[in-house]
Formats: sequence, C-alpha cells, structure tokens
Amino acid sequence: MSTQKKQAVIIGAGPAGLTAGIELLKTEQIDVTILERDAVIGGLARTNEYKGYRYDIGPHHFITSSDEVMKWWLDVMSDDFHPHKRYTRIFYNNHFFNYPLDPYNVITGLSLLECFKCVFSYIKVRLFPIKNAKTFQDWITNRFGFRLFSIFFKTYTEKVWGITCDKISSDWAAQRIKGFSLSQAIFYAFFGRWFKKNVPRTLQDTFFYPSLGAGSFWERAAKRLTSLGGSIHLNHGVQKLEHDGSRITAVMAGDAAGSGSRFEADEFFSTMPLQALIKSLSPLPVQEVIAAAESLRYRGLITVNLIIDKGTVIPDHWLYVHEKSVRMGRIGNMNNFSLKMVADQNHTALSLEYFAFIEEPFWQTSEADLLKLGAAELEILGIVKASEVIDGMVTKTAEAYPMYDQNYHTHLGIVLGYLKQFPNLHLMGRNGMHRYNNMDIAMLSAMHAVNELKKNLPVFKKQPVPMKQRGQGAQSPPA
Ligand SMILES: Cc1cc2nc3c(=O)[nH]c(=O)nc-3n(C[C@H](O)[C@H](O)[C@H](O)COP(=O)(O)OP(=O)(O)OC[C@H]3O[C@@H](n4cnc5c(N)ncnc54)[C@H](O)[C@@H]3O)c2cc1C
Repeated sequence: MSTQKKQAVIIGAGPAGLTAGIELLKTEQIDVTILERDAVIGGLARTNEYKGYRYDIGPHHFITSSDEVMKWWLDVMSDDFHPHKRYTRIFYNNHFFNYPLDPYNVITGLSLLECFKCVFSYIKVRLFPIKNAKTFQDWITNRFGFRLFSIFFKTYTEKVWGITCDKISSDWAAQRIKGFSLSQAIFYAFFGRWFKKNVPRTLQDTFFYPSLGAGSFWERAAKRLTSLGGSIHLNHGVQKLEHDGSRITAVMAGDAAGSGSRFEADEFFSTMPLQALIKSLSPLPVQEVIAAAESLRYRGLITVNLIIDKGTVIPDHWLYVHEKSVRMGRIGNMNNFSLKMVADQNHTALSLEYFAFIEEPFWQTSEADLLKLGAAELEILGIVKASEVIDGMVTKTAEAYPMYDQNYHTHLGIVLGYLKQFPNLHLMGRNGMHRYNNMDIAMLSAMHAVNELKKNLPVFKKQPVPMKQRGQGAQSPPA
C-alpha cells in the first residue's frame, strides 16, 4: 500500500458501506477496509438461498429518482437488471384493492355508502384540518380523511410499528408519502396515463430487479470493490470504537466467539445502528448521551419464507395484508420478481413478513411454529391451503426498521450533537443515520459522505493504483 494514501475503515457491507467503499477507491487516494458483522454481503438488501429458492429480506425493488444512483446501478449490473411493472394490492375486508388506488375497484370493495362516508370525512378534514399535525395519524388524516386513514393506513402501519398511529411521528409519513394526498391519488387514478413524467414516487410503477435477487447486485458490487483493491472482512462485528475526544483512532472488530483484531485508520464510515455505535465508544460518553441512544428503538422483522406446491399463487409482487384476522403484514412473491428465484417453476416462493420487537415473546417463536403459522394464515386468507406449503425457512432481522416514535427526534439530536466532535466519523445509511431510507437514499448518503471527505482531502498528486495491488482483498465476498 502506498504510504501517501489515507486509510478508511467502513463499518457494514450493506448498500451504503459498499457504495462508500467503491466511491472512496475511485479517488485512488484512499485504502478501504470494510468490516462486516455477518457472514454475508448486502445487509438488509441481501438475498438468502434455501434449497435453490431465493428470498430477499422482503423483496427489494430498485427504484430511484436520482440519475446518479441509476447510473451507478447500471454500471454495476446493466447485463442483469430487468424492468418490471409493479403489481401491488392491498387485502382488506376480503377484497383485493389495487394500488395505486383505482376508483372503480375501491367502490366495489368498500360499498357506495362507505365511499360517501370517506368522501365526507375527506371534505370535513379539508375544511377543518387538524392543526399542528405531529403524529402519523393526524398527518395522514389531513391528507386523506379519517375514514380512509382507518381503512388503508392504520392496520398495516400498526402491524409494522407495533405502536398506535397516534404515537408515530409524522416525520415517517412526511418522508415516505411526501406531498401525496387523496386529491392527487384520485387525479392520477383517472389521468395518470397522461402525466407519467410527474407521477409522485409513491405511485411510480416501474422498477428494476436482478434475476438472482437484490443481494446478487450487492455481491457484484462487493466484487467490484475488491477488484479496486478494497478488502472486506466478514464475521467482523465492530465492538469498540476508540477515540481521543476529538477523533476516532481505531476500532476493534471480531466474531461472536471473541477473537478480534484492531484496525487503525484516518477516516471511519459507519452504517452500524447508532445505539450500538454510542455504546461501543471507548471511552463512553456521558450518561445523557447513552440514555438518548438507548431510547432510539428498532422494529424487528421475521420473514417466513415458504415453498408452495403451485406454479402460480397471486399475480402480485407484494400483497399488503391489512386484515386484522392474521398477524402477517405483507406477502412478497419472489416468482414474480424473477423465475430464477425458484429451483422448480411448478413451485412458488412466498415471503411472509411479520414484525415484532425483539423483547416480545413472539420474537422467540421457533422456526417450526412460524412455518405452521405462515401456512395457517395463508389458508385463512384463502390464498393457498396449508397443505400446499411443502417447505420453508425463517429469517429474523433485529434492526430492520429505525423507529420514528414521537420522541425519537430529541434523542437523535442528542446523539448526533455528541458525535459531531469526531470529524473523521462519517455516518451514513439507514440505521447509521436512524433514517427510514431505501437503498437509493442510503447510497446517496454514502456518496455525500465521500464527497464531503473529498473536499477536505489535502491535494494528493494523483497516482494510479499499481496493478499488483488490485484484487488483494483480505477476504473476497462469496460468489
Ligand atoms: C422489509 C424491507 C424491505 C425493503 N424494501 C426495499 C425496497 O424494495 N427497495 C429499497 O430500495 N429499499 C428497501 N428496503 C430498505 C433497504 O434495505 C435499506 O435502505 C438498505 O439496506 C440500507 O443500506 P445500509 O447499508 O444503510 O444498511 P444495512 O443494509 O442495514 O447494512 C448495514 C450493514 O452493517 C452491518 N453491521 C451492523 N452492525 C455492525 C457492526 N457492529 N460491525 C460491523 N458490521 C455491522 C450489518 O450486518 C449490515 O450488513 C427495505 C428494507 C426492509 C427491512
């Protein structure tokens, strides 16, 4: 390694970590080492394989309004990146509602009387909006009316978050749904075909997907990173970040068995959850900062991944399950993303999503019981008979969703305020910033972090990386 080069350590080999790594290596002035806690690449966007059937952790579609991100995606995977027209529905009250909403389908599903009630409730809130709408419930009610909020937003949102909608911050709705409202939904339902270019992101219906799952994209990105000279150490969870009060100086990383190594660097990029990061600092911050970090909460996700003895089950990519009679919140149909996701095309790979806090007893449910629950709930919904479920496996992801409860903003402010004293610590990604980001936004946060660093780099004489140093990653990612 050139002595003139700066050393960067990146915590996490998910989308943000890999993006930052590749962007740093492109400068040819920085050496990159990625430390990844898990045995696989991709973070939340990984793809797990079971007996030749492939499941994302909830199917991950590639969609972005950023030209920069799209260019990056095509650069990594233009040969295996397939456009799909999204097909999503909501299952509620024994009826499939199309998403985006289709007025005729809504009227059939809700009855004319219920539709009048929804319109009345919408007019009412337009005339008398809720002032100072700080909760998810108030924010959505202001844009859709209380009745539509109750039908199309409340149940699913409460399944995902495990708290009532009046306890969820409006930030989440504002970030996910942006300026979208009922009037826009109706406008695009009737006239959308003539206004394709201006369609809000929440209604965009074309996305890209690699034939072997979202994770195959990130495995490809990891290979790009190692070919540029970066290294990835799997099974290297960062347990300690050493600092001198003004800079991070080194991290200790190791596996669960306790064997670890120390990595010194000039710059540190982190995508690990903020709560764990604060608690890994050595020396620890004052109690107020630790308490704030401990108040940042996460929602866990259990995916029950099933093999169904049928080639066709539902036409959807995703089916949102608002029904209260079942615990699952969403079904992902991997066959509709790519038939290469199944070992046998007479079978369907369904991924059922269940949400839970890790402290809840439900989190401890055994794999066998979860597989039985998934099969039984599919039968309750009338999607397949339980006897048609022939096999399956379960994944549990403890920190799938950074929670936006009503006080998260204050706690996050304290944590971020404290971390500002370390100018060589760059926070990015989803849990790394406690932001409910999709892959593209996580990537943009990584690109932003790298650009900020580039601004402060002393001007090095640009030196091409000698060929012999390329591809000497400490550990290549799995194929
Ligand atoms: C169910 C679900 C569905 C989703 N669907 C989509 C979708 O359709 N489209 C989309 O664009 N986005 C989707 N997302 C969001 C997407 O997964 C994230 O935006 C993206 O993965 C964030 O990338 P990241 O690198 O910031 O974080 P992560 O993907 O969380 O990666 C962080 C990495 O850091 C590692 N790590 C954590 N702690 C440590 C430590 N102490 N030491 C070392 N390593 C550590 C983790 O193991 C992980 O590999 C979905 C998310 C979920 C949960």
